[in-house]
Amino acid sequence: MIKISGIAASAGIAVAKAFILKHPDYTITKTSISDVELEIVKLESALEISKGELARIKARTLAELGEKKAEIFESHLLILEDPELISPVMDKIREEAVNADYALQEVANQFIEMFENMKSTYLQERAADMRDVTKRVLNHLLGISYVSPAEISEEVIVIAEDLTPSDTAQLNRKYVKGFTTNIGGRTSHSAIMARSLEIPAVVGTKHVMSEVKAGDLIIVDGLSGDVLVNPGEAEVALYIAKQKEYDLQIAEWKKLREEPTVSADGKHVELAANIGTPNDVAGVIDNGGEGVGLYRTEFLYMGRDKLPSEEIQYNAYRTVLENMQGKPVVVRTLDIGGDKELPYLELPKEMNPFLGFRAIRLCLDRQDIFRTQLRALLRASVHGDLRIMFPMIATLGEFRAARDLLLEEKAKLHEEGKEVSDQIQLGIMVEIPSTAVLADQFAKEVDFFSIGTNDLIQYTMAADRMNERVSYLYQPYNPAILRLIKNVIDAAHAEGKWTGMCGEMAGDVTAIPLLLGLGLDEFSMSATSILPARSQIAKLSAAEMKELAAKALQLGTAEEVAALVQAINY
Ligand code: PEP
Ligand code: MG
Repeated sequence: MIKISGIAASAGIAVAKAFILKHPDYTITKTSISDVELEIVKLESALEISKGELARIKARTLAELGEKKAEIFESHLLILEDPELISPVMDKIREEAVNADYALQEVANQFIEMFENMKSTYLQERAADMRDVTKRVLNHLLGISYVSPAEISEEVIVIAEDLTPSDTAQLNRKYVKGFTTNIGGRTSHSAIMARSLEIPAVVGTKHVMSEVKAGDLIIVDGLSGDVLVNPGEAEVALYIAKQKEYDLQIAEWKKLREEPTVSADGKHVELAANIGTPNDVAGVIDNGGEGVGLYRTEFLYMGRDKLPSEEIQYNAYRTVLENMQGKPVVVRTLDIGGDKELPYLELPKEMNPFLGFRAIRLCLDRQDIFRTQLRALLRASVHGDLRIMFPMIATLGEFRAARDLLLEEKAKLHEEGKEVSDQIQLGIMVEIPSTAVLADQFAKEVDFFSIGTNDLIQYTMAADRMNERVSYLYQPYNPAILRLIKNVIDAAHAEGKWTGMCGEMAGDVTAIPLLLGLGLDEFSMSATSILPARSQIAKLSAAEMKELAAKALQLGTAEEVAALVQAINY
């Protein structure tokens, strides 16, 4: 047995066989073909094999997962049988004497673009189907053997270098019991997605990919961050018992689902959830979330090959607002850059991407991108309680510039006769020390703050959040961080505004007593952390935590603060 340690990214324990997920390379070059008829035969054969595969997957899915899940493969089959796709590919091969893989990709891309620009969400989603089907046929044309995460049909633990948002979107929770990756940290985006999917995960193991073969028995302990490769029977029994204990604890927490969040001495706070896609809303409701405190819209821009249209965005925002049924939804405008790349923007590589051209900096420069998002948000605002916030604000000037663009788009929509809510709150993320220090000035102009500790800590401590070697400097309890947080909360309160926190710190058991004591109004976290946090807050006295926080602010190190908090008797 080998034990690999990584970062506990999503709670729970899973035991299953390893499934290695490696992405094929679909780079295609255009080549001139002398025997076009042979190329057509190659295409036909790839299409036939693909159809056979799809028919088998469809039959199995129907038997195991039901009609709804099987529909997707039926629509893939229909695409492959559609002469409107296949004939132009054949024509292209014949007329231009080019290779089948190139012709297929070119034609498919035209359809994908067309679907993405359709008004209806249903048709927009067909773009993803077209992409999947094209890859399946390309696998056969290029001789690639690849099983996509959506096709996994037995219980497995997915092992990967990293997982992209589209990988995680395809993971079927019935079969994928857990995952573990080589790279990433607790605040990297695959970790965040694991928590919203409620799949146990360990990330940042550095070498799980080289230690594990397909079919090895794996235990993923998302509570401790351990991954066991080929454990013995005794270990398996031990971990299954640990998993049962954890399940019982979850059942206890679930009883608090419909309850408000109130401390032992009667102070109300709001517990909201961080989401990445409209599909995550179900988990928010299921875990008793009182709102969405952070909707990371960049996932809408990732996993596709061009910018999402205003319609695609409007539909996503509207779905989230409607499904949250009037509860507040804080949408963060595009935060691309850092560890989140958009290959189709073709931005130059930077020496220090986390300190570079990202988030609001990019949006203020690429106003075409930003204005489209603002319009989509403003149009969606009539469907619920929308709050908008700008990421990575470093100066008041940036906030004002972003706000002015929003106001301009609002005025344009009014002129076009489109309805926009007049109740939208406008806030900023506090992720950069300059903004935390100058919070009193910002508080006069914004409606709220949301503290993004994942970045605020990395910038305050000058420690890259993706670099495991400096991860010891991710110190949420460091008094320097606590003082910045206090400054922000006090500044907001002095102006009658509210402060939330949407960094991972908001759901951290050791941080919660301190944040309650510092007067944080809203805690936004992974949906699965909400009920444990509600149960914890119910046992704490806000007045006592205020005294505790005051003491913590006078200490010198994160360790001293942690010891102070851990001495609390619940
Ligand atoms: C943060 O920085 O704390 C935050 C919530 O934003 P992200 O993790 O998406 O950078
Ligand atoms: Mg951030």
